[in-house]
Amino acid sequence: MSEGSDAAIEGARILGLVTSPGFVRMMARGVIRRCPWCGGRGAFFTGWFAKQPHCRTCGLQWRRGDVGFELGAAAIAAVITLGPLLVALGITLAVTWPDTPVGPLLAVFLPLALLVPILTYPLSYTMWQAIDLTWREVSPDDFSAEHIAARALDAD
Ligand SMILES: [Zn+2]
Repeated sequence: MSEGSDAAIEGARILGLVTSPGFVRMMARGVIRRCPWCGGRGAFFTGWFAKQPHCRTCGLQWRRGDVGFELGAAAIAAVITLGPLLVALGITLAVTWPDTPVGPLLAVFLPLALLVPILTYPLSYTMWQAIDLTWREVSPDDFSAEHIAARALDAD
């Protein structure tokens, strides 16, 4: 095979990687802690909190050069944690007012306020990544070159 057609095949492989699955599909994947781009299990998480720089399946780098990526993930964490808690607290206050049982409410809501962010930590990253991938165009440079090279060797 000539060098030119090798480059064309590699180019097509890369182009195949940079075709967006669409926002709804990416968000659905993010909600279940999968890579929004490829649907790979666990995405870039090697543990509940531990991350590696790129997706274990497709090689997409989660930061993609954006040093403020964590800020977006923190915003998602606040929305998916505080949102439901504030709604539940508001409903409880509306139903029990003016004899609101403050002690039992604290006993329920304080542990939830601590536990829910831990449970949703990786989801806040993968959900934010789905939004980021929709807003910022994906380029072949966003994928780990080493990961793609290793995958290409596996495919041969
Ligand atoms: Zn992936």
